[in-house]
Amino acid sequence: MACLFCEIVERKRPAKIIYEDQTVTAFEDINPQAPVHVLVVPKKHISTNLDIEEEDSPLAGHLLQVANKIAKDKGVAERGFRLVMNCNPESGQTVFHIHLHVLGGRFMQWPPG
Ligand code: AMP
Ligand code: ZN
Repeated sequence: MACLFCEIVERKRPAKIIYEDQTVTAFEDINPQAPVHVLVVPKKHISTNLDIEEEDSPLAGHLLQVANKIAKDKGVAERGFRLVMNCNPESGQTVFHIHLHVLGGRFMQWPPG
C-alpha cells in the first residue's frame, strides 16, 4: 500500500528535507502550525507508536536525538519546543507512518487542543 512518508523518504515525492542519515529523514511540515514545524520520520515504515517493537528502541531513541539537533539548529532549543507523536485517529494521527513533530518558535498552550 502506498505510504506518503515512505515516498518522501524514498524521494519519490517532493519535500523540504532538512536532515537525513541512515535511519531517519526530517522535513518541513507542509502545513506548519508554528514558526518551526519539522517532522522526524524513521526510514523504516512503522504505522503507529503502538507498532514500535523492542528491537526498534535504538531507532526510537535516535528520533529524539535528531529532534534535539533540529531544535538546536533552528534556534528554539533554549526557548523551548514541543515534541508530539499522535497515535491513532482520536489523537489526530492522519499519516500512518510514525513521525515526531518538532514544534517551536511560539508560546505553546497547555492543555493541547
Ligand atoms: P499527524 O496528523 O500527526 O499524522 O501529522 C501528519 C502531518 O503531516 C501533518 O502535520 C501534515 O501537515 C503533514 N503532511 C501531510 N502531507 C505532507 C507532505 N506531503 N509533506 C510534508 N508534510 C505533510
Ligand atoms: Zn511508510
